[in-house]
Amino acid sequence: MSTQSADPLGLLLRAAAFAAEKHRLQRRLDVEASAYINHPIALANVLKNEGGISDPIVLCAALLHDTIEDTQTSYEELRAEFGPEIADVVAEVSDDKSLKKEARKQAQIEHAHLKSPRAKLVKLADKICNLRDMVERPPAEWSLGRKQEYFDWAKAVVDRLRGSHGTLERLFDEAYTRRPR
Ligand code: NDP
Ligand code: ZN
Repeated sequence: MSTQSADPLGLLLRAAAFAAEKHRLQRRLDVEASAYINHPIALANVLKNEGGISDPIVLCAALLHDTIEDTQTSYEELRAEFGPEIADVVAEVSDDKSLKKEARKQAQIEHAHLKSPRAKLVKLADKICNLRDMVERPPAEWSLGRKQEYFDWAKAVVDRLRGSHGTLERLFDEAYTRRPR
């Protein structure tokens, strides 16, 4: 099967099906333990229907953005299934799991401005969706302080991505106005 698709809708659905399969046993952190796949779908939806982004590489990378980090999926597997452009964006937005949590968080801030334009769009959508989730269906048992820390960290990352996409940056700023207090 061709990975460099002349059929973007087919490619998008393949990415959605692949991500759904990989995340099938995972749940979000909210009290209802929502299905994890809702999150990658939310990113793609924000990018297309709020950000106006139609690039299938970006939309597929959004659907797949947590597969390397959070499931048993390798870069090579993504490359074979979806081609190097999509696999490269997913790799770019994946944390280095050999680092400790604190160092990974710091690395996201320090490396944000070095990412490719496509990876920056996926990063922006990820932060928008996670801030919205943090308000609408927050992780169970997170203290107010921890949620506030999360908002501030997300803003520190996004502040290093500014100039990438005005609409997405505005959507992030709107989400940030709901910082818990
Ligand atoms: P994470 O950053 O791993 O947890 C947040 C992540 O969980 C999000 O980025 C998102 O990632 C995912 N997620 C899943 N469900 C939801 C949801 N419902 N709403 C929003 N996000 C969701 O937290 P850590 O445990 O790694 O802690 C991060 C930092 O917090 C560390 O630096 C640590 O030191 C600090 N910390 C602070 C505490 C405090 O009380 N102040 C206590 C413990 C830690 P994705 O997009 O990948 O799904
Ligand atoms: Zn994510």
